[in-house]
Amino acid sequence: LDVNLAPYINFKGEKKGVVTVLHDITEIRRLEKMRSEFVANVSHELRTPITSIKGFTETLLDGAMQDEELCRNFLQIISEESERLFRLIREILDLSKIEQKRIVINMTEVNINKLVEGTASLLQEQIQRKGLRFIMPAAKDVTMISDRDCMNQILLNLITNAVAYTPEGGTVKVEVSKDEQNVTIVVADTGIGIPEGDIPRIFERFYRVDKARSRDSGGTGLGLAIVKHLIDALHGEIAVQSEEGRGTTFILVFPLDK
Ligand code: ADP
Repeated sequence: LDVNLAPYINFKGEKKGVVTVLHDITEIRRLEKMRSEFVANVSHELRTPITSIKGFTETLLDGAMQDEELCRNFLQIISEESERLFRLIREILDLSKIEQKRIVINMTEVNINKLVEGTASLLQEQIQRKGLRFIMPAAKDVTMISDRDCMNQILLNLITNAVAYTPEGGTVKVEVSKDEQNVTIVVADTGIGIPEGDIPRIFERFYRVDKARSRDSGGTGLGLAIVKHLIDALHGEIAVQSEEGRGTTFILVFPLDK
């Protein structure tokens, strides 16, 4: 709270009291704090893969290169970390573009089922490697007027997470339906779930329940923050249900009249 005090003097010059101006600056402070936290987070997140790349490169140059297997291992890590760095930078730029409302929404007719199929085929290798069942109940294809790129990104991020956080042999199910008012998309997995206390925070930038696991799966902690912003841009809503050890369900609802 910003408080300004000034004496109140009447027209005869007599002091009659004090004028108090109360200014609520909590919101401004909050935004400033969020911005500086974001910069600190970005620096930290970028530094982690770079430190790792630098460390492994130096070890190689210091002689580890003689050992072919070790060399291969290290190069593998360097390659993965470079990829993560690349993805991180792209997602940070995407997020700032969305947050500054610099994305152009281009509404056209979009077949949601086709987008889900496209996403599943992108993730095919991972799905097969983990022996996951990927199901999309075969109903009539659902189409709606929406932005194809935004919708694609939303589905890609949610389904990528479902695949990443579901152990071998599990199931990922995507259900798409439509009634007079809404298109509803449900992305459900039988994965590790999210502890109740963490659920309110998962849409925050860089928030990860388990940093190590997220890193292993190539996560950046930005996927759901991007999803939330894109859904807002499309006037949709997202809800989460999750139980640790049993699985997670994301429910997306897009009104048809927006
Ligand atoms: P990340 O890149 O780490 O996956 P996200 O923003 O996509 O970042 O998700 C934030 C966090 O929410 C993840 O680190 C993970 O802990 C949790 N999470 C997201 N989706 C799922 C899911 N389907 N099952 C379990 N945990 C999830």
